[in-house]
Amino acid sequence: MTPRPLLTPRLAEFGETIFAEMSALALRTESINLGQGFPDTDGPAEVSDVAIAAISGGYNQYPPLIGVPELRHAIVEHQRRFWGLDFNPDREVLVTAGATEAIAAAMLAFCDPGDEVVTFEPYYDSYAASIAMSGATRRVVTLRPGDDGLYHFEIDELRAAITPATRLLLLNSPHNPTGKVFRRDELQQIADLCLEHDLIAVTDEVYEHLVFDGGEHIPLASFPGMADRTVQISSGGKTFSFTGWKVGWVCARPELVTAIRTAKQFLTFVNAGPFQPAIAVGLRLGDDFFEGLSAELQAKRDRLACGLRDVGFDVYSPEGTYFVTADVRSFDTDDGRAFCLALPERAGVVAVPSVVFYDNKHEGSHLIRFAFPKQDSLLDAAVERLQRLKA
Ligand code: PMP
Ligand code: GLN
Repeated sequence: MTPRPLLTPRLAEFGETIFAEMSALALRTESINLGQGFPDTDGPAEVSDVAIAAISGGYNQYPPLIGVPELRHAIVEHQRRFWGLDFNPDREVLVTAGATEAIAAAMLAFCDPGDEVVTFEPYYDSYAASIAMSGATRRVVTLRPGDDGLYHFEIDELRAAITPATRLLLLNSPHNPTGKVFRRDELQQIADLCLEHDLIAVTDEVYEHLVFDGGEHIPLASFPGMADRTVQISSGGKTFSFTGWKVGWVCARPELVTAIRTAKQFLTFVNAGPFQPAIAVGLRLGDDFFEGLSAELQAKRDRLACGLRDVGFDVYSPEGTYFVTADVRSFDTDDGRAFCLALPERAGVVAVPSVVFYDNKHEGSHLIRFAFPKQDSLLDAAVERLQRLKA
């Protein structure tokens, strides 16, 4: 008799996440880690000082389930200030253990076996796992680079992906890993389909402040009719360069928040007590902070993209986020995964094979992702090492 596998079949397709695998590879081989997306410098001291003071000031027990009041109020102010959206801090905001928990809790709250979730590929890896844990099935619509160097989707493919079983649409903009920032006309098309098919929209906006070249991030919730059906998710990790703090949040109408809270309370219950008031201070920083952040990252994008082009990669320069996508086919291979596994040995650099973010593997097998929220000296050192590929 074949013994029953320990891991539930729902999770059988999931091994170790690519981020853990690649960061371990970087450590083991002493490579420069441009794989996992995290900054190599701390965020603002005015923010971290609040957390330090909170810890020494005895702010160390369970915070309220929905989050500390000062953070919920700061989230509401931030939503109004940047996106013109109104939420009630007591009924329409929920603080979570990063965006990751918010996404998982949303899937567990809304989805059943037999339901389908539509999302774009390539997709952030926790989406597939969260959908699978809920018992739902994912259906993907592929984002493909066009001649303009930007990523696009076919509206007919999105329309075809929506069936009577579709429960919700999971949208990430600015988008990891492509760096696509969905345009107003694209979002309108997505909103129209959500309304036509009575779908819940779950929007992952963790890169909301990382938009370059004067581009515009537009929350799907701001489109007519969408506020009542959109669950807007963000987190402080990327905006304040404290990815390890895992302070995330959900903003949505009370009945949507209540459903997510019901699942969330049995995942972590609460987290990050002393970090919550610190993120509240961050959300209230002046415009100069937010503008400075995107300007700084835009310069890093250009620095790395230019270096990668010089080394010989075809590069897709992102409109936002932390990531540059490069095509490995100019190095006589179309196997990005093998290329990334060999890269530490060949050049002492770690990147992530984008294929792990695709269901349709052929769409992304030749693409790899480099993260650029790093000190300029480290980006320069990485590019210099990559020059070895030319030899
Ligand atoms: N969504 C996307 C698109 C991401 O890139 C990440 C990684 N930061 C997350 C969600 C997870 O965010 P958090 O660290 O707040 O859980
Ligand atoms: N969001 C980051 C990335 O895409 C890392 C997240 C993680 O390590 N799970 O690289």
